[in-house]
Amino acid sequence: MSVQVFGLPVSRGVAIGRAVLVASSRVDVAHYFIEPEQTGAELRRLKKARDQVCREFEALKLDVQGDAPAELVALLDVHLMLLNDDLLAGATCQWIEERQYNAEWAVAAQLETLSRQFDEMEDEYLRERKADLEQVAERLIETLARGGQSVGVRASLGAAADDVPLVLVANDISPADMMQFKGGVFRGFVTDVGGRTSHTAIVARSLDIPAVVGARDASRIIRQDDWIIIDGDAGLVIVDPSPMILEEYRFRQRQGQLERDRLARLRHRPAVSLDGQRIELLANIELPTDAPAALEAGAEGVGLFRSEFLFMNRGGRLPDEDEQHAAYAAAVTTMRGLPVTIRTIDIGADKPLDRMTLSELRHEHSLNPAMGLRAIRWSLADPGMFTVQLRAILRAAALGPVRLLVPMISHPGEIRATFEAIERARAQLRREQLPCGDVKIGAMIEVPAAALMLPLFLRHFDFVSLGTNDLIQYTLAIDRADESVAHLYDPWHPAVLGLVSTTIRAARAAGREVCVCGEMAGDMEFTELLLALGLRSFSMHPSQLPGIKQRILRTEIPALEALADQVLTSDDPRAAWLAGRARTVQPAPVPVA
Ligand code: PEP
Ligand code: MG
Repeated sequence: MSVQVFGLPVSRGVAIGRAVLVASSRVDVAHYFIEPEQTGAELRRLKKARDQVCREFEALKLDVQGDAPAELVALLDVHLMLLNDDLLAGATCQWIEERQYNAEWAVAAQLETLSRQFDEMEDEYLRERKADLEQVAERLIETLARGGQSVGVRASLGAAADDVPLVLVANDISPADMMQFKGGVFRGFVTDVGGRTSHTAIVARSLDIPAVVGARDASRIIRQDDWIIIDGDAGLVIVDPSPMILEEYRFRQRQGQLERDRLARLRHRPAVSLDGQRIELLANIELPTDAPAALEAGAEGVGLFRSEFLFMNRGGRLPDEDEQHAAYAAAVTTMRGLPVTIRTIDIGADKPLDRMTLSELRHEHSLNPAMGLRAIRWSLADPGMFTVQLRAILRAAALGPVRLLVPMISHPGEIRATFEAIERARAQLRREQLPCGDVKIGAMIEVPAAALMLPLFLRHFDFVSLGTNDLIQYTLAIDRADESVAHLYDPWHPAVLGLVSTTIRAARAAGREVCVCGEMAGDMEFTELLLALGLRSFSMHPSQLPGIKQRILRTEIPALEALADQVLTSDDPRAAWLAGRARTVQPAPVPVA
């Protein structure tokens, strides 16, 4: 029977595929396909790992016998039994043989299937054995991972995924996990938790795959292998759709592709409004390997390189100066003389360094990570790490135009400390006679305190960039990653629009460049309003760029300026804007070249 699940639309488009449920496992599970001829070797790898875990349990049993409580020995027996039971052992082999999953993925998939069966058991004793099963499976996965990379190769990801499209369903995926999916295994994803501007959602947008977050019970309702439709425009997930619905969505998928192809033809056209004003369109990237897509989409530079993604999935080992320099240099050279804005590390809150669920992060690290040690606070608390990053950025600036952007800065003392750190790094490089370039230094305006005392920032910084995702979070006291308050996360809130507007106007009046690099910049709903408020520089995911450019090409900015002023003083800015827009004459659509 077809079921619908509702969540928050975070990345546009339609994905249709078979569900892969990723258990919120505490261990790292690699997901990739093996080549059919590698099946035998993968099965042997699984058997070797299982034999090894068996030996460990047997040895443990011998060790604890004697004075240990009888329950402990009995528990080890249960673990041994589960490990060898056909339900785990046999079925896991099937995932490898029939689906070509790698061994770790096969164990995780079977664990997910069995966990559900355990949850449905009447008998409490048996139901509680689920924890034992999880421990056994996780030990097996860890042993497999310790044994090194399997014979499978990640290069085969795309090929196998093409036969049967797959979509990912999970309770929660960290941004670090999302980065692993850049290889393209999954066509879309659904999570139970998360908000519209959570970093997981942002990474999904950067992957340009349809996604729905905050779908609450999705990972409980959807089962392994169910066919599902993800409607990333409506925030809807349809489980087990009827043939008629499926056909309708396949049609929408084709239409979406046609529209993307049409917009792609605007690539080389400058973004100039109908009244002749030139607008700068920049790209947000996570890794230097995203830079070619930025150029391809027609970006005139990188407005936000979220450098923290270089620091993730590294088991706690941070990239050293040369490794960071190579990454920044790669982005700078790929952009061929266009400016690259590198934001210093913004780690913390919903962006842990390594795989960790949000709830683990909240409980293990601090009660309220969004207000804790994050971004520039983190950098200033670890001067050694910060100097390494600053040196790498300054060295990359010798290769092309680089701008340095400081996240979440709000306190005058932080401004002083940041400039001192930059000067120290520059002086070191000079002493060592290493080449370093001039950089413009900018502040992200994403804490209300910074917006409220903008003149101070404008005296120190060369430019400012509005981080609207965090500015909304901190102005409205709404955790951007928490789906239970997502309905209150409102970019149209008068307080938010007031801060955005005063920042743009004050920066322009002071002759400083101002950009918006939060999700508002790539949201077509706000393009005209931001233009009318005076914004002339937008930074967004490359995939959003053509649509925004089309909007700009159709906008007569002066015709909207008076309306923007009225909206700022309205109790309900969105309604005032929509009503006013309906009254202004729609300019004729601009034909695509
Ligand atoms: C923002 O807060 O708007 C922003 C661009 O930074 P991030 O989303 O990485 O926090
Ligand atoms: Mg931010």
